[in-house]
Amino acid sequence: MRLAVLKERRPAETRVAATPETVKKFIGLGCSVAVEAGAGLASGIPDADYAAAGAEVAADPAAALQGANIVLKIRAPLAAGEGEVDELALIPRGALLLGQLQADEKAAAAYAQAGIDAGAMELLPRITRAQSMDILSSQANLAGYRAVIEAAGAFDRGFPMLMTAAGTISAANVFVMGAGVAGLQAIATARRLGGRVSATDVRPAAKEEIKSLGATYVGYESEESKQAQTAGGYAKQLSAEFYAEQAKVVAAHIAKQDIVVTTALVQGRKAPQLVTEAMVQSMKPGSVIVDIAADAGGNVALTKPGEMVVTENGVKILGWHNWPGRISGASSSLFARNLLTLLTTFWDKEAKAPKLPAEDEIVRGVMLTRGGAVVHPSFQAAKAA
Ligand code: NAD
Repeated sequence: MRLAVLKERRPAETRVAATPETVKKFIGLGCSVAVEAGAGLASGIPDADYAAAGAEVAADPAAALQGANIVLKIRAPLAAGEGEVDELALIPRGALLLGQLQADEKAAAAYAQAGIDAGAMELLPRITRAQSMDILSSQANLAGYRAVIEAAGAFDRGFPMLMTAAGTISAANVFVMGAGVAGLQAIATARRLGGRVSATDVRPAAKEEIKSLGATYVGYESEESKQAQTAGGYAKQLSAEFYAEQAKVVAAHIAKQDIVVTTALVQGRKAPQLVTEAMVQSMKPGSVIVDIAADAGGNVALTKPGEMVVTENGVKILGWHNWPGRISGASSSLFARNLLTLLTTFWDKEAKAPKLPAEDEIVRGVMLTRGGAVVHPSFQAAKAA
């Protein structure tokens, strides 16, 4: 088995899908590994470290992909016209591709046509057995941490209450909106820094989790929100009436906050808008909002994806792209381990090759295409052209 790791070429992408640690493990499984030169640089991993782990450092994507049976990526390979290299065309037919492919019908059809067995890691079922392979969790966790660190950096005061000989500085009020994986880590991080933390979510289970981390729960609850969680653990889209009531509670609370971290997502939809322009205007100058949901459309009306906005009333809104990518060393390391765990779970030791049983829940959840056909139930309409 030859396994290839490419340098990520999409904008704002700093991560890499394998580390020297995972390369060593793949070699231990019987693979040979090719890593494109420069692949790890933006995550602080020089080529020499991959070479020391036993990988061949390939000069370009074509050399890395030549003869590859397994291709590991963070993001979907570039297709024709998407960038300087048509990565998709360089992946050999029959290869297994794994990454956060942001799959849709068109992409599934293209993989089928190219004869690539594509696995979209973002579609991994969120079951206990799959937790150690869950890229959404590993990356959201780090995004939540990083968001608070960047908020603290952009804030012109401190998080903890500081009692000094020159007087006392009060603790920062930190409000976390959305208490899933990213939000819970944001709460924990803000608490560790000494902030006075409150949080909101629509899922009833989140209320207890917020409290168990020592934060105050703030929110609107109704008969509707009792049913706000899907069987998969995600938030449902709720009615306009619910969002209007929620906004009233949030508006009263937000005016007193120094830091707001927004992480709210509704699967398969644009991120809900939770912070209106009027709410931002009610905040004090110097306050900071970090919108982790910026790439999904943003939770804040004034977010500009990829930018920091400073409003007329002096509120900074950080809407950077790719929050996990802003802590690339750690996020690459966890992403790479997620991929390694999936492959070791489905590894035929005798054949020294992946063995992906079609009926397995994880395999069924992840695999878009196999043997030139679209196999994922969500994309069945997409046929290989
Ligand atoms: P997510 O990224 O889809 O959304 C982030 C948070 O935003 C969620 O908590 C959601 O409820 C919240 N949200 C949505 N609309 C909102 C609104 N209007 N106001 C406030 N908050 C809003 O979620 P996630 O972080 O991926 O986690 C979702 C759930 O899945 C959690 O219960 C988590 O514990 C669970 N989970 C389970 C596993 C597993 O068992 N393998 C793995 C990861 C996550």
